[in-house]
Amino acid sequence: MDLSYPPEAEEFRTEIKGWLHDNLPDGWFDDGFEMTDDERKQFNETWPQKLFEGGWICATWPAEYGGKGLTTMQGVVLSEEFASAKAPMRGDFFGDTLVGPTILQWGTEEQKKEFLPGILQGKTRWCQGFSEPNSGSDLASLKTTAVLDGDEWVINGQKVWTTQGHHADYCFLLTRTDQDAPKHAGISYLLVPMHQDGIEVRGITQPDGTAEFCEVFFDNARCAKDAVVGGVNNGWKVANSTLAFERGQSATTGHRRFQEEYRLLVDAATANGTIDDPTIRQRLMEYYTKIQILRINGLRNLSAALHGGNLSTAALGATNKMFWSEMHKAAMELAIDIYGAEAMLIDAGPDGGGWPGAARDKQREGYPVSPMMSSFFFSRSETIWGGTSQIQRNIVGERVLGLPKEPKPPAGD
Ligand SMILES: Cc1cc2nc3c(=O)[nH]c(=O)nc-3n(C[C@H](O)[C@H](O)[C@H](O)COP(=O)(O)OP(=O)(O)OC[C@H]3O[C@@H](n4cnc5c(N)ncnc54)[C@H](O)[C@@H]3O)c2cc1C
Repeated sequence: MDLSYPPEAEEFRTEIKGWLHDNLPDGWFDDGFEMTDDERKQFNETWPQKLFEGGWICATWPAEYGGKGLTTMQGVVLSEEFASAKAPMRGDFFGDTLVGPTILQWGTEEQKKEFLPGILQGKTRWCQGFSEPNSGSDLASLKTTAVLDGDEWVINGQKVWTTQGHHADYCFLLTRTDQDAPKHAGISYLLVPMHQDGIEVRGITQPDGTAEFCEVFFDNARCAKDAVVGGVNNGWKVANSTLAFERGQSATTGHRRFQEEYRLLVDAATANGTIDDPTIRQRLMEYYTKIQILRINGLRNLSAALHGGNLSTAALGATNKMFWSEMHKAAMELAIDIYGAEAMLIDAGPDGGGWPGAARDKQREGYPVSPMMSSFFFSRSETIWGGTSQIQRNIVGERVLGLPKEPKPPAGD
């Protein structure tokens, strides 16, 4: 098996490394580099513009919509170099990763021209309006309706767990547009402006004090008739594309933050002596082994994307999502066992500092926890968002292993 990348990919890698060195703040690559709060604020304000000027946001999108038209391989190298430099790469997660690629795949020419530039420039923020109070795993049972009134859809109903709903300019929303059709066949995928009278957004506060997801209420909200992606009543197929993007991202870079976390756990266990406990050592080794499996599987996914394979992106995405989220939940339980009672302190973790992937600490007003504890809390949700582990197992069982379909409850239950 040859795991090396072709020479042109390595040439591109050198170009990206050069750009990062030229554009990141002085000292970024030095050991112990830190920014003051003011410097961090300024960096956060100016970096998206630099990314945009470099063309690195959604750089694999076609040039005609403002992308750089990079090949899949170049896109992977780009992600790897940004991950290795720990340089932020995104404008807006929901725009860049979910609705943007969905519009590219299913949208009309007008939709591509209207919505993609705003995402590329980091100017439009999006949220995902799929889940409802009684429709999560069984998403196709959703009840929010959209009814045509002249040139507009009129929307009524409620969504829940809408991440970033309070900051979003637009929502990609699943609505029922045909009450009489079988449930999967009566759904449409709408692009709805959030700043309007018919929409009320209420934040949901979590145990660590953050309120990053919301309830969203639609009371005669409106969007244009032509804001349907992929055709009226075809929303189920379109939504499945979005979900496949959500579950299958960052194939060859996803393991990196876990590798960094593993290193912190070994350091902490060595420092406080818990490394002498054979069960802790065994759990650390289990974590290490799974990170390697994740890394190698990422390469397998890349190979499948480049050369084709017998598994669909959706099936590979489901396998990947189930594997890393279960792995990480166990790893954060291990972190709590290694830190012991110290885990409850506000400065628990590496020298009271950050924790990979826990960028949420600034929002915890009134309920401070350490970044490590924040990551522990969030790991509980990782086996739920984007489809629960049980649902991923059903997909893997049916579509990868070819097991019989899950039995449906008898009619009337
Ligand atoms: C942090 C976070 C962010 C989120 N962000 C968004 C967002 O931005 N937009 C959005 O639309 N949604 C979002 N969600 C919602 C998420 O998609 C749902 O929570 C998820 O799909 C599960 O749905 P549910 O909560 O209704 O649970 P339910 O579907 O009620 O499931 C309850 C339990 O039953 C199990 N179960 C259900 N059906 C089956 C089955 N057929 N076989 C086996 N077990 C089953 C589930 O696995 C789960 O353990 C977010 C969730 C979280 C935690």
